[in-house]
Amino acid sequence: MARIAFIGLGNMGGGMAANLAKHGHDVRAFDLSAEALDRAKKAGCLPAESANAAIEGAEAVITMLPAGRHVEAVYTDNILPHADAGAILIDCSTIDVATARRVADAAAAHGLAAVDAPVSGGIAAANAGALTFMVGGSEAAFSRAEPFLSDMGKAVIHAGAGGAGQAAKICNNMMLGATMVATCESFALAEKLGLDLQKLFDIASVSSGQSWSITSYCPVPGVGPETPADRDYQGGFAAALMLKDLKLALEAAASVGAQTPMAARAEELYTRFANGEGATLDFSGIIRMLKR
Ligand code: NAD
Repeated sequence: MARIAFIGLGNMGGGMAANLAKHGHDVRAFDLSAEALDRAKKAGCLPAESANAAIEGAEAVITMLPAGRHVEAVYTDNILPHADAGAILIDCSTIDVATARRVADAAAAHGLAAVDAPVSGGIAAANAGALTFMVGGSEAAFSRAEPFLSDMGKAVIHAGAGGAGQAAKICNNMMLGATMVATCESFALAEKLGLDLQKLFDIASVSSGQSWSITSYCPVPGVGPETPADRDYQGGFAAALMLKDLKLALEAAASVGAQTPMAARAEELYTRFANGEGATLDFSGIIRMLKR
């Protein structure tokens, strides 16, 4: 079992660190929030007094932070100067591709092995150890990170060189944002056309309109499997996080001159939704806005 530093014990990181502790690892946990540290302690982690105290002597250093600026600051101020020469550095946060590549280059310049390993799956999957990790980094770094990621997830996929995990994540979520909007507007139209919404689900989920947004995450209450729609759009994947990922996708697209008209429209719609009633709702709740 390994000694692991875990930095960022929020909605996602809290459950992930707890799963590492359940697997018998010695998890030295750090967060700026005392409450988060307390929860980690109750979950079997050892709260550290500072990021540096968590990092020193760790075989793996895992971060789960809000955005690129937090990751870059923690890498620059704490991880790169204090990590053991043999440590594997694993950033699971969802951040912009450019920062992920800068962090990977800085780690390499310090002679440290690093991967970006963002996740698919929300808080429930983090708690259940059922996340999917998409990993960017060298073959050697991937092999070293994989056992730790497997203890927190159901699938670990090597996407390519440093930054490829973040690229895969935003491309995936860009599809998800666009298919969710398309699914919601189809159901809104079906309702106005007098179609039974269960019938549309039965047909589209086995026809060419099929996508995860309909079969696994149907935005209509009482139709399809149980989803946040059945809980008044509480819990699930917050609209604000979908908006964050769409913005990251558009930023990446602009940096390489890629055309993303559907993502641009989805970003406009999610901005409207997240600035209004959607601020605290699951992203499938956008159907309410589209029905008006
Ligand atoms: P969160 O805001 O709940 O947690 C982030 C934690 O980082 C907080 O506890 C905060 O105190 C801590 N933190 C910030 N700066 C720090 C620092 N310098 N040192 C130590 N701790 C610091 O966010 P979350 O929902 O857990 O998301 C984390 C990451 O996972 C984000 O990048 C997000 O986009 C991604 N993600 C979230 C979900 C989800 O459903 N919540 C799903 C997939 C991916």
